[in-house]
Amino acid sequence: MSFVVAAPKQASVPVRGTHLRFPVRRIYCVGRNYTDHVTEMGGIPGRESPFFFQKPTDALLMDENFPYPPASNNVHYEVELVVALHSGGKNVAVEDASRHIYGYAVGIDMTRRDLQSEAKKAGRPWEVAKAFDHSAPIGEVAPKPDIGLLERASISLHVNEVQRQNSDISEMIWSVPEIIAELSKLFELHAGDIIFTGTPSGVGPVQPGDRMHAVIERVGELTLRVCKPF
Ligand code: MN
Repeated sequence: MSFVVAAPKQASVPVRGTHLRFPVRRIYCVGRNYTDHVTEMGGIPGRESPFFFQKPTDALLMDENFPYPPASNNVHYEVELVVALHSGGKNVAVEDASRHIYGYAVGIDMTRRDLQSEAKKAGRPWEVAKAFDHSAPIGEVAPKPDIGLLERASISLHVNEVQRQNSDISEMIWSVPEIIAELSKLFELHAGDIIFTGTPSGVGPVQPGDRMHAVIERVGELTLRVCKPF
């Protein structure tokens, strides 16, 4: 097939322990999924339906440098467990959801918090806050057969060697199987879809020169240096 302009590249993430890559079709993100983070953002925690947003696949960042985005003075980290799917469907049952998981990765849902606050106040969409270029740093995908089904694992993030976030994925309000089931009521899920599953409390700003270090037990780690915009 011939295109009239250069075709965009297929987004993908390296798979741990191999030379293969996981191709990314869509990036879904879950909001407000840890009680202590809901509280720190001024919300009321609860089991009302989870809500979702997306980032564009070309926002994935696998470089060790995170370029500080323009148009914001308050850019926050949010460490998150990322789930990668090798199959999907509509109306997936909670009991069947785990079999669609290919593997897991460490991700950081970078957020222009100032623009998000303005959007919330104005009732506007979140794209400028959540879907900017390089807003989805991610580590290698750890295949599920290598580490097992992940139901309990510590999740943490340090900035300049100071711990800022520290929780366990078992603290999620909506578990990974429940997230997959709920999301599949709204969108047909497919191989290549990845889901950022929400962040625990401790989110905060970074500045150029800062070093972020995110770790999820058994899954892996991710180190990023915040740099000036390219
Ligand atoms: Mn998030």
